[in-house]
Amino acid sequence: MFWAYRMRDEIIARYQPVIKRGEPLIIRDEKTMSGRVHIGSLRGVVIHGVISEVLKEKKIKNQYLFEINDFDPMDGLPVYVDQERFRPYMGKLLCDVPSPDGKAKNFADYWAREFLGIIATLGFSPKPYYSSDEYRAGAYNETIRLALDNAAAIRAIYKEVSGSVKDADWYPLQVVCESCGTVGTTKVNGWDGNKVTYRCEEALVKWAAGCGHSGTVNPFDGRGKLPWKVEWAAKFKVHGVHIEGGGKDHYTKGGARQIAARICKEIFKYEPPYDIPYNFFVVGGKKMSSSKGMGSSSKEIADLLPPRLLRFLMLREPSKEIDFDPYGDTIPILYDTFDTYARAFFEKKDDDFAALFPYAFPAGERAKLKKIFLPRFSQIAYLSQMPHITLDQAVAEMKGSKLTAAERTEMNARFTRALGWLEKYGPEKYKLTIQTELPEQTKSFSPLQKKALASILQYMRENKKFSGAELHEKIHAIKSELGIPPVELFSALYLTFLAKTSGPQAGWFLTALPREFVLNRLEEVSKLK
Ligand SMILES: [Zn+2]
Repeated sequence: MFWAYRMRDEIIARYQPVIKRGEPLIIRDEKTMSGRVHIGSLRGVVIHGVISEVLKEKKIKNQYLFEINDFDPMDGLPVYVDQERFRPYMGKLLCDVPSPDGKAKNFADYWAREFLGIIATLGFSPKPYYSSDEYRAGAYNETIRLALDNAAAIRAIYKEVSGSVKDADWYPLQVVCESCGTVGTTKVNGWDGNKVTYRCEEALVKWAAGCGHSGTVNPFDGRGKLPWKVEWAAKFKVHGVHIEGGGKDHYTKGGARQIAARICKEIFKYEPPYDIPYNFFVVGGKKMSSSKGMGSSSKEIADLLPPRLLRFLMLREPSKEIDFDPYGDTIPILYDTFDTYARAFFEKKDDDFAALFPYAFPAGERAKLKKIFLPRFSQIAYLSQMPHITLDQAVAEMKGSKLTAAERTEMNARFTRALGWLEKYGPEKYKLTIQTELPEQTKSFSPLQKKALASILQYMRENKKFSGAELHEKIHAIKSELGIPPVELFSALYLTFLAKTSGPQAGWFLTALPREFVLNRLEEVSKLK
């Protein structure tokens, strides 16, 4: 069963009373906007978004909230921002740090705008809100009071669940220092039921230095913030969340989710939401240096893939890891997989592929999906590098008939994306250079390899006109006839024209090249001594 359907059914069973009352189920996701958003953060957005959509299809009211978390201290400087300018803000709340462009309302908002733009292109429209607005409006006052009143119980939960021992004077709160405005450096050491006492510590954290100020302050209305595991529990309660997942890193034994769930239940007296733990999104490739901050942001990957492919990628079963390497085979394989799912859907198969496929498209487009010919992305990538080729003709040849307008649109879209991909990431394997001279490697061909190439030459000479598919079949027939292992035959073909052992599907490739050139080259190679 498609995972989103399985979860939908579990959610409906669990929240029957809420549904019967006609109240919306609350779905929540969030991102701390401390810099350019990593592509992995889109996984949660899509998972929550699709759950919202499948519930809606069953007429289950729900609201999808997306928190722009700007009420966390700046605890690291992204390498791509002006270090000198931003260093003084270390330890301050992200909402109190200026926007790099001076246009967004603050540092967090600057990154949030870009990310929300990407979410919109994927066809999701969660309701965004800023955590700073809520803290300052007093939404967390009740949970802050509960957390301070129950500090000892919270310390006990930390110890029991994760083994982490907090000092007897540790309170689950940090306040904004009245003297220097930093939040990451303050340590609350007392609570009298109205105010907390605190000290702005010089060496509480490595990434920011406090000013040494001590004070007493009312911790409500945005003057204090909960530490994040307690805060996560508070967010469940404050928003009445029914459904919220999280990345695998929060699910280790004694990890954040476990602690948050206990605090939610025992301190805030709220049943923790239906959980969706999802696995890692790993961005591979040696050039993916996080120190440069390039290559793995949502923006970069969103520029590389059309929205439906990006949605499709993120729709993978949540328990499975996604390993994404734009320098490797990931992208051609992703397109091939998409095409396989498309076939299952259009052939009306009763399987998970067919069930999942429409969710690669925004809800509004799903009813209108039409079956079209999908040219293989890897083939388009190869064709895009071949001189003297009319893409239209080559793709029509692959299809076996003329392309429709929709098919031409799809072909052009894949062509544009292939060019962008090759230019930016350009895996060697997918690069083609037609060799103007007979490559050196052909000199070591076996007699059988030369015989196979001679047979292809003979077929081409005897037949003035044939399609790529026909030649493709013929090559396979020659392979069987001569009993030559496929790898020997195909590597000989590619070495002859490309000086490498792999390349585009041979039949189409040879028909796409100028006929005389192919005949001459095959003759030359088959005559080698
Ligand atoms: Zn201070």
